[in-house]
Amino acid sequence: MNILVINCGSSSLKFQVINSETEEVKASGLCERIGMDESRLVYQPAGCEKEKTVLPMPTHKEAIAHVINALTDEKKGVVKSLSEIDAVGHRIVHGGEKFAKSVVITEEVIKAVEECNDLAPLHNPANIIGIRATQELMPGVPMVGVFDTAFHQTMDPKAYLYGTPYEYYEKYGVRKYGFHGTSHAFVSARAAELAGKSYDDCKTVVCHLGNGSSISAVENGKCVDTSMGLTPLDGLLMGTRSGAIDPGALEYIMKKENMDYAQMMTVLNKKSGFLGISGVSSDCRDVEGAAAEGNKRAKEAIEVFNYRVAKTVGSYVAAMNGVDVIAFTAGIGENSATTRSAICKYFGYLGIEINEEANNTRGEEILISTPDSKVKVFIIPTNEELKIARETAELVK
Ligand code: AMP
Repeated sequence: MNILVINCGSSSLKFQVINSETEEVKASGLCERIGMDESRLVYQPAGCEKEKTVLPMPTHKEAIAHVINALTDEKKGVVKSLSEIDAVGHRIVHGGEKFAKSVVITEEVIKAVEECNDLAPLHNPANIIGIRATQELMPGVPMVGVFDTAFHQTMDPKAYLYGTPYEYYEKYGVRKYGFHGTSHAFVSARAAELAGKSYDDCKTVVCHLGNGSSISAVENGKCVDTSMGLTPLDGLLMGTRSGAIDPGALEYIMKKENMDYAQMMTVLNKKSGFLGISGVSSDCRDVEGAAAEGNKRAKEAIEVFNYRVAKTVGSYVAAMNGVDVIAFTAGIGENSATTRSAICKYFGYLGIEINEEANNTRGEEILISTPDSKVKVFIIPTNEELKIARETAELVK
């Protein structure tokens, strides 16, 4: 089956066409600046150069129409006609407590996703616009929704409840949901496989470290805890996000800086994290470069990041009463040997030993712990699009 995977943001749309039998990516690309001037399509059929074309995209509907035109084009297309696209898999950010699994999209499903809009006001409406536009242009093609939050729905109340009045949970769904679920699901399953363990009998910690970062504890195939919360602001230090902070500090800063709540949230989401501490950049590579040249704040930013990752992993080992495998994934987790090495130095108490030669690898699936290490540590490149294509194929076959 040819699956079109769509990840729709408010002004962008990423896509891939994946053959679900061979798992080959036939084409990929993105539409940028939807609803603005100079909107463009970036399109890359497998084995060919990327092609960028400026095209009018007043709405997502025109963007998807351009994608379909490119995919079915006589010269550069990868399918002869639209009828060769068997299904569409849509990434949906927030499924609240309504979706613990991927689902075939129906009107009822769209309504239920709309009911979660308040939980992800920037993302869910964009996801729905993408679904509606695709439905219009591809009538009769089955569509599947794959949720970022679904994998974490197996958490117990002890892991997801906040210490706030229970009525906020009951009335508004205030609780931890977690994100990057598609990545955590993909990587934890692969980690068990690589470790030679059954997924149903394996304790794994997945460190998804990228511009946004989160960690999950996966015990016997089920997520038992994760570091992001009601929103993706909680937990680790990130590119521009603060991660966990004493809520009391917010009132204090707002008074001192004469800020309102919206301004405070902008600071926490856009001006904090690596960028906020280092003052250099939100990009880990830049911060690592500055630290290597002796920049004190860049060094501190990296230390805060590594320390939080190590502490969170430790708490998840405690929660699961042990760990068999630790996996590093996403931009930093897959590429930064120094970050992985520095984090793993905290894990001596677990009997973890790192093979620094193996660790000096970028973006490849590889065991980086020594044969004597008590816990296996892997780099596992994540592949959310493939996971979405697999789930879509499974549901529509
Ligand atoms: P992602 O959000 O998963 O795309 O990850 C983006 C993050 O990965 C950015 O902070 C990048 O600086 C970081 N990254 C990518 N390549 C490297 C590298 N070679 N070394 C360190 N960080 C990297």
